[in-house]
Amino acid sequence: MSIELLLATGNEHKAKEFSELFDKNVVSITAAPNKIEVVEDGTTFNENALKKAKAYYEEFGKPVMSDDSGLVVDALPGELGIHTARFGGDGLTSQQRNELLLKRMENVADSERSAYFVCVLCFYLNDSEVFFFEGRMKGKISHSIKGEEGFGYDPVFIAEGADAEGKTVAMIPDWKKENSHRSLACRHAQKFFKERDGQN
Ligand code: IMP
Repeated sequence: MSIELLLATGNEHKAKEFSELFDKNVVSITAAPNKIEVVEDGTTFNENALKKAKAYYEEFGKPVMSDDSGLVVDALPGELGIHTARFGGDGLTSQQRNELLLKRMENVADSERSAYFVCVLCFYLNDSEVFFFEGRMKGKISHSIKGEEGFGYDPVFIAEGADAEGKTVAMIPDWKKENSHRSLACRHAQKFFKERDGQN
C-alpha cells in the first residue's frame, strides 16, 4: 500500500520530477489542483517547508508533501541559504544570479569555496503526523559558468564525489539525478515509509 500525497506546488514539472524519484508502490505524488501563495518568511528550510505543507493541507484536506531547497555558500554566510531564490534581488535571471555569485567570490581562494545544496521535504499527513527529511549535495563554487543542463546554480557548482574533473553539475545530469540533495532527501523519506509500512 502506497502513501498518497499532494505536492505543495502548482508546478506540474516539479510533481513529475518528484514522482520519478519515488517508487510509486511506496510514495505516490500528484500535483495540487492549484497553486496557493505562501509567504516563505521562515528562518529555516524546515520552517518554510512546514508553512507550505500546512497551507496546502488546510486548503485541500489531504496529506501533502512540500519541499524547500537552496544553496549554502560558506564564504557568504546568510546571503543565500533560505534566500537563495532571491539572491541579488527580485527579477534576476539564473544567469545573472550566477554571474553575481562568481563576482562576489572573485577573491575567494579555492580552499574557501565550499558550498552545499540542501533539500528539506515535509510530509504533512495530518495535524499530528508531520515528518521532515533532508538531503545535501556537497561541493564547491566554480570560477566560471559551465554546462547547459539542469537549472539555477547548477552551472557554478562542482559536486564532491562526482569524480568529474572540475565539471559542474550542469554537465553531469545523470550523476546529479542519482546524487542530488533532492534525490537523497527522497531516498530517506522512501526508506522511512517503506519500513513504517512493513514493506522492507
Ligand atoms: P526552491 O525553493 O526549491 O524553489 O529553490 C530555491 C532556490 O535554490 C532556487 O533559486 C533554485 O534555483 C535553487 N536550487 C534548488 N535546487 C537546485 C538545484 O538542484 N540546482 C540549482 N539550483 C537549485
